[in-house]
Amino acid sequence: NNEVETVEADVLIIGAGGAGMRAAISVNDAGLKPVMVTKSLLGKAHTVMAEGGIACALGNVDPQDNWMVHYGDIIEEGVYISNWKMAEILGKEAPDRVLELERYGALFDRTPDGRIMQRAFGAHTYRRLAHIGDRTGLELIKTLEDQVLHRNIPFYDEMYIVDLIRKDNKIIGAYGIKMNTGQTFIFRAKSVVIATGGSGRVYKVTSNSWESTGDGIGMAYRAGVILRDMEMIQFHPTGMVYPPGVKGLLVTEGVRGEGGILLNSKGERYMLKYSPQKKELDARDVVARANYKEIMEGRGTEHGGVYLDISQKGADFIKHKLPAMYQQFLEFAGVDITKEKMEVAPTVHYMMGGIEVDAETERTNLENLFAAGEVASGLHGANRLGGNSLADILVFGKRAGDAAVTYARSSKFEDIPEEEIEKIRAYVMHFFKEDGKNPYDLIDRLTTCMSENVGIMRDEEHLQKAIKIIKDLKEEFKEVGTKGGVRYNHGLLGCLELGNMLVSCEAIATCASMRKESRGAHARSDFPKKDPAWKANIITYMDEQGNMNFEVKPAAEMPEEYKAYVKPEVYE
Ligand code: FAD
Repeated sequence: NNEVETVEADVLIIGAGGAGMRAAISVNDAGLKPVMVTKSLLGKAHTVMAEGGIACALGNVDPQDNWMVHYGDIIEEGVYISNWKMAEILGKEAPDRVLELERYGALFDRTPDGRIMQRAFGAHTYRRLAHIGDRTGLELIKTLEDQVLHRNIPFYDEMYIVDLIRKDNKIIGAYGIKMNTGQTFIFRAKSVVIATGGSGRVYKVTSNSWESTGDGIGMAYRAGVILRDMEMIQFHPTGMVYPPGVKGLLVTEGVRGEGGILLNSKGERYMLKYSPQKKELDARDVVARANYKEIMEGRGTEHGGVYLDISQKGADFIKHKLPAMYQQFLEFAGVDITKEKMEVAPTVHYMMGGIEVDAETERTNLENLFAAGEVASGLHGANRLGGNSLADILVFGKRAGDAAVTYARSSKFEDIPEEEIEKIRAYVMHFFKEDGKNPYDLIDRLTTCMSENVGIMRDEEHLQKAIKIIKDLKEEFKEVGTKGGVRYNHGLLGCLELGNMLVSCEAIATCASMRKESRGAHARSDFPKKDPAWKANIITYMDEQGNMNFEVKPAAEMPEEYKAYVKPEVYE
């Protein structure tokens, strides 16, 4: 189908996860026309997989909680390189967004007196996570989807955005392929919100959905957008290890939040040794490294994991509080968690890094391009607290939508030059060749390389090895290809996604090699200590020659009065 369809949107929103949907609602309610696109189906975004809850200092269970305590927790767990202003905004606004979600119809678990229930989660000072059993993401997405449908917000699903179209310091549109028809779409927009989620699929063992290939990072980078903190990848302590088909699948922190304990093959509750105070509920990086250490030192299980046990809580409690986990283990592993221990190991889970944004407006370095959700960076610094991402997508999704509206109101549509469209079309069409290399073979090698060399414990030798493999794969990428037509072409999708994955991988591996210290999720065996010289953020951008460039910037200092909310940073 060669016809090109042009669609106009006051605000184009790329991505229909929680961040994209919340932004679309803002645009619609301001009286402007949003258009939302997703490469999967509406209601299927990665957000749907979220389990444990939404962090918000409502203080329903622990009345001492408030935004200042939440703020302190974010800064400390982000190991003092978070964007402090974003942490303040999240702390203050997350409760409003959760109550709004409740007004939209979300059915939260309840306290005995009928308020929103909040559960404990790793490294949160108080019980803070509003939740719906262990299916919080599903309820969040379904609630927002209802609002989107109810408002008749225009959306295009199975629409793959290949690239943004830039003119001067603005994005004037985007090029999309409707994958189920093969048709080309040109979206003209006054402002654009990127809400495409993370890049967790660049690793072999990951909890992330197939969508998380970092397309938004790739397209933004090619358009001249600045990225930050790309080396900061969160490893979740507990992913499934067995059977092989589900390796990496998440075992929610809610299991530990509800009382689950970790044991090694000798039956020792080793978190008492690694973290006597917080035990299983210490920050994710601490628990993930403890699990890794137990496994590497030979105290792991048959399938290379450790044990997680919640059976002591009894069947009724487990089936009520953790219904999805109960089913997941029964169906996939034949394990009844009301009676038996789970086998778990660290899995890639979240990208703290991504597109650099202004804290209040989520604006990038381009004047009408905004980014929100996992694709953006800043809030989580070197480590994300569980539950803060669902809060992030609601708080900053709304703010990005609002700011995109303000820009669009005083802006007009621009004509999109034909040669810009042709350039992207030529990029897409060059993948059609007779003897192209299979993109999925390269993806397999790339993700294996990342898991083996840029994993939970890093060192210079392995990072250099990864950088070399990524450079070689970039060369080989020129030879990948597919056959047939554009419609339903999985090979083409693989080629396009691989191009984006290579951007994330090069940035992650190079920044990881630059950061010669251990901080938060970034742990190096050759630089095991935190270094005050590295209280800094690394930014990544493309230079005029098309090469990847990096700069190190000292982390911005928070205002003096906010220091009272945070424990002072300690260096050994
Ligand atoms: P996503 O939900 O990833 O949505 C991205 C959207 O962009 C999708 O619609 C996708 O199709 C679209 N897209 C991507 N590329 C393109 C393209 N090229 N063209 C068009 N569309 C595109 N966080 C918490 O706070 N609490 C939890 O309990 C929790 N549990 C989790 C459990 C699991 C198993 C996982 C994996 C994560 C969990 N997280 C949790 C993290 C959280 O779910 C995610 O960070 C968050 O949902 C990301 O939302 P998002 O809106 O930024 O992006």
